[in-house]
Amino acid sequence: MDPVIITAAITGAVATKDQSPFLPTTWDEIVDAAVDSWRAGAAVVHLHARDEAGLPTQDVEVFRELISRIRDRGCDVVLNLSTGEAGGRAVLEERIECLSLDPEMATFDCGSMNFGDERVLRGPFSFLRAMATEMKERRIVPEVEVFDSGMIDNALRLIDEGLLPHPGVWQLCLGVRGGATADVGTVAFLLGKLPADARWSLLGVGRHQLSMNLLSLAYGGHIRTGLEDNLYYSRGDLARSSAQLVERTVRLANEVGRSVASPSVARGLLGTRVASAGG
Ligand code: ZN
Repeated sequence: MDPVIITAAITGAVATKDQSPFLPTTWDEIVDAAVDSWRAGAAVVHLHARDEAGLPTQDVEVFRELISRIRDRGCDVVLNLSTGEAGGRAVLEERIECLSLDPEMATFDCGSMNFGDERVLRGPFSFLRAMATEMKERRIVPEVEVFDSGMIDNALRLIDEGLLPHPGVWQLCLGVRGGATADVGTVAFLLGKLPADARWSLLGVGRHQLSMNLLSLAYGGHIRTGLEDNLYYSRGDLARSSAQLVERTVRLANEVGRSVASPSVARGLLGTRVASAGG
């Protein structure tokens, strides 16, 4: 099996300090969380921006500042920028402004769905096509985020159109209310729809994080962990950091004989170009 690529999703756009005092929301905290997760073994950091009040934002200047501070710490982790909705605060055009920074990777939410009880993730096909086109032109690797099965069909259509790479890099995002559930049958069904030789990773939200990490380790996939997806280390016990969760996945990988990919190994597996000044 390939070495496992561990992605640390360190803050996201949903959780708040009220839910966990350990969630990084200031720029200093976010930079520390990125560097600490990299030191713990993460090859990729999935980065969201937060404004000076700690609220999610897609402001390109905030991304630029965070990237610069992370690189200033000597950290060569692959940065995977969010093109999400900043918790409902960013409209479609704002979501992809960060692509102008030419990151190595960015997330590609491949459709629309109910996201929890009140939020709706928007992804009309025209937007998906525009986002894919821009990533292709800039040679940014899209991480296709799949929250439900129809999103795979949307991505396959974009692959057919030559806008998304084949076989692609996929993140199956499981357990969000309104999307695909985090269970073995669903994972098997979704994996069966992916192109042969696709690179895939599983994430489970909340209590499903650890079980999805274990499943992925056992079956040759990659892993995403971190406080964006889950605030707890174990039932009732808040995780102290994303690095703490990364450290656990490194131990688990060692136990099952999977080596852990360094950033340079991950670059080879993911097919990213060499990091530019921006990314
Ligand atoms: Zn995210």
